[in-house]
Amino acid sequence: MAIKLHRGDLPADVSFGSSVAIDTETMGLNPHRDRLCLVQLSSGDGNAHLVQMPRGPYQAPRLSALLADPKILKLFHFGRFDIAVLEHALGVRCEPVYCTKIAAKLVRTFTDRYGLKDLCRDLLGVDLSKQQQTSDWGAETLTDEQMTYAASDVLHLHALRAKLDALLVREGRTELAQAAFSFLPTRARLDIAGWPDTDIFAH
Ligand code: MN
Repeated sequence: MAIKLHRGDLPADVSFGSSVAIDTETMGLNPHRDRLCLVQLSSGDGNAHLVQMPRGPYQAPRLSALLADPKILKLFHFGRFDIAVLEHALGVRCEPVYCTKIAAKLVRTFTDRYGLKDLCRDLLGVDLSKQQQTSDWGAETLTDEQMTYAASDVLHLHALRAKLDALLVREGRTELAQAAFSFLPTRARLDIAGWPDTDIFAH
């Protein structure tokens, strides 16, 4: 496994093929208050690219182009948060998208454990450490432990997607999942626009 660190944007010579796993680290869970610090990306080949974001306003044209590219599927785990953060920070609508948490909720109805750590253990036999989850992602210099943790959040999403796609087929829920993924950028936009806790479909 190789981890490459970049500052501010992706370098011009990096590409990810037709699907890229993406995760973000921020200063906290409120996109209006807490800035984007790191964007992690992987093509599923075991390597990760980390883009460290200096404090905004952000200028990341290559990363933005990748997020908006209609030919490249963006894989997330709980994409609702990352997509909202990325749209708020970069002003770009991220799609098409796939979310391993939504897929898992549609097929693993026998459990209520949908964390990335749970899915990696149950579906891939991979043990993820979550130790650095709450560390200071705004630090000028990230520790090796932070970089390893950040990378691990994108390294397994392609393998998870393959497992979950097979389960979606088995349970006849592929179309339902696709419809949910298509709506996800809109759900993220509602979060940012002021309806974070409201189900607009509720009575
Ligand atoms: Mn993460």
